[in-house]
Amino acid sequence: MKDLYEILGVNKNSTDDEIKRAYRKLAQKHHPDRNKGDKFSEEKFKEINAAYETLSDKQKRRNYDQFGNASFGGGVGQSGFQGGFDFNNLSGFGENFADIFETFFSGDSQGHGRKSSQAGTPGDDREIAISISFEEAAFGVEKEIKISRVGECETCKGSGAAPGSRVITCPACNGSGEIRSVRTTIIGQVTTRRVCDACSGAGKVPEKECPTCHGHGRTRITDRLKIRVPAGIEDGSTIRIVGKGDVGFRLAESGDLYVHIQVLHHKLFTRKGGDVYSQQNIHLVQAVLGDTVDIQTIHGVVKMTIPAGTTSGKIFKLKGYGASKLKGDGKGDHFVTINITIPEKLTKREREIFQQLALESGLKLHEEKGFFKKIIGE
Ligand SMILES: [Zn+2]
Ligand SMILES: [Zn+2]
Repeated sequence: MKDLYEILGVNKNSTDDEIKRAYRKLAQKHHPDRNKGDKFSEEKFKEINAAYETLSDKQKRRNYDQFGNASFGGGVGQSGFQGGFDFNNLSGFGENFADIFETFFSGDSQGHGRKSSQAGTPGDDREIAISISFEEAAFGVEKEIKISRVGECETCKGSGAAPGSRVITCPACNGSGEIRSVRTTIIGQVTTRRVCDACSGAGKVPEKECPTCHGHGRTRITDRLKIRVPAGIEDGSTIRIVGKGDVGFRLAESGDLYVHIQVLHHKLFTRKGGDVYSQQNIHLVQAVLGDTVDIQTIHGVVKMTIPAGTTSGKIFKLKGYGASKLKGDGKGDHFVTINITIPEKLTKREREIFQQLALESGLKLHEEKGFFKKIIGE
């Protein structure tokens, strides 16, 4: 996409007046009335007008400076000149409105069809949802998917023409892709345009229609595609595959394919970005005395030391044992949250040991048993 300032031959710091002057000069030079049938001028005229439409509007100019062409879905060549003239756009012309207005309406045309209508009807976007495992999301995976979409006709390779026949200029619109009608009004002649039915705006038609697709150039197909899912992808992400949606009418632009990714739950792990989280149950005695335990990570089992006196809820980090990071290099970490399990049933011997422990710690435990209340340690 061309730079709008470049189109008008001005720069980012040009004043509104300078932009207006540059625009008027160019608009007159490339006006279709002066350049009948000159495709280059026609394109140029369209570009100039679209550029001026943006740069003459303070808000639009600010948006453009900030976001570039991305701030206007369609961009140059699509604004204000589809399906006839858009009167709202005249507001930007200011005090010189009158003479430009005259120039526009003196002839039989003002502005011409947008690019996409010249190229025919584009294909639709397609979407599909796939599920991948926790590990596949963490490490990345290549998935083969099967989609049903509108694809190129095998017989005519998308042209719509029967084998051996040619594609010719559309006789209904003489290749322009649009049908014009001119009305005379009090302000001059106004041209309205619509997409040509015969060629759907493509400007070309098959001399003899392809028998397989009846001239559409496309047919429903089942496609197998290999999709590379990047490591570190998040649940709910969407991957866009350009051009793998439905193909357009007679080789017009194809739509895109959107693949929505669902990451399945894992029984041990959760993940946030590159970091993986899990819980580890340990026995009370392990927490008190310390131990080394096996921790399951996505990279396999790792030995982790639990120091004596570890409390429940404490989190340990296994550096570099997480998933790949989607953005940037390296891996995240694996975080283990400790959960201390307390034995619910004790053997007689265990009970004695705990009671001994209580004595040793100087704890006075109130124990209720039968009819008697016994205080251990008294
Ligand atoms: Zn065909
Ligand atoms: Zn046509």
